[in-house]
Amino acid sequence: YRYIIFCGEEKRMLYPKPETLKPPRTDVLTITPWLAPIVWNGTYNIDVLNAQFHKRGVRVGLTIFAIKKYTVFVQTFVETAEKFFMVGHKVNYYVFTDRPNDIPNITLAEGRQLVVLIVPSYQRWQEVSMRRMEMIRDFSSQRFINEVDYLVCVDVDMRFSDEVGVEILSDVFGTLHPGFYGAGRQGFTYERRPESQAFIPGDEGDFYYAGGYFGGTIEEVYKLTNFCHNAMMTDRENKLEAVWHDESYLNKYFLYHKPTKILSVEYLWDNGFGVPDILKRRRFVAVPKNHNAIRNK
Ligand code: UDP
Ligand code: MN
Repeated sequence: YRYIIFCGEEKRMLYPKPETLKPPRTDVLTITPWLAPIVWNGTYNIDVLNAQFHKRGVRVGLTIFAIKKYTVFVQTFVETAEKFFMVGHKVNYYVFTDRPNDIPNITLAEGRQLVVLIVPSYQRWQEVSMRRMEMIRDFSSQRFINEVDYLVCVDVDMRFSDEVGVEILSDVFGTLHPGFYGAGRQGFTYERRPESQAFIPGDEGDFYYAGGYFGGTIEEVYKLTNFCHNAMMTDRENKLEAVWHDESYLNKYFLYHKPTKILSVEYLWDNGFGVPDILKRRRFVAVPKNHNAIRNK
């Protein structure tokens, strides 16, 4: 005998048909030359995507680092994520910290949990930022691979202010840096010293990706973070540190391992840049901080 098990009737889903001759956005680039989508408001239907990802029972890990004084950002980060990040899906927050007692207790919705991971801190803020690559790599192979399907790796000095859902998920994704989305190659602050592992020549480069927002499947995030950490260590042996630390190595990785999806600046904004016309939603924005008061403390 063969048994066919029907897990509930497929629901009829009604939505406007895509219009081949009426692209939803003509003011921004919505696909790369290697055919990766660039995610902007209006380019996707979240109901269609949610149905696909619910069927797979997708589990998402959201990693943040709260080392030393940056623990002050955790409360707002998690509270706003509860409102806007992957609502209705399974989410694990992974909070890397050296100060577990400073991590607040926050009530989470069903299907969501917060895991505190105790890690060492480093003296220089640049090193704290860079070492994220090593720690995400190590926890990916030891823990995340058993617990979640995708990782989303972001800065903690941020708040969610609009929806961020499964439209961001893909094998490996990066995010346009809000300071450089309109810039030419010469304007990108890539590492320009040929001796560095992060070096990008002046006539190469697609986008300037932000260090504070990347992700993908655990396997792809492992490859990305492993590359970046190893490149940093090689540079260190040669007494070099790339100009924008982990961000420079990330940009080098994405030059030769193209992301399969790119998040627009809606997903990483800083209100210091105002609100340009192309920006229909501000989903995740920087929380202003006093650099001197909070760094190296
Ligand atoms: N970070 C931290 N403690 C520090 C410095 C940095 O936890 O003392 C982490 C934190 O997650 C932060 C990230 O490293 O969001 C990147 O640093 P920062 O946000 O200061 O860089 P910026 O966004 O200002 O370039
Ligand atoms: Mn930041």
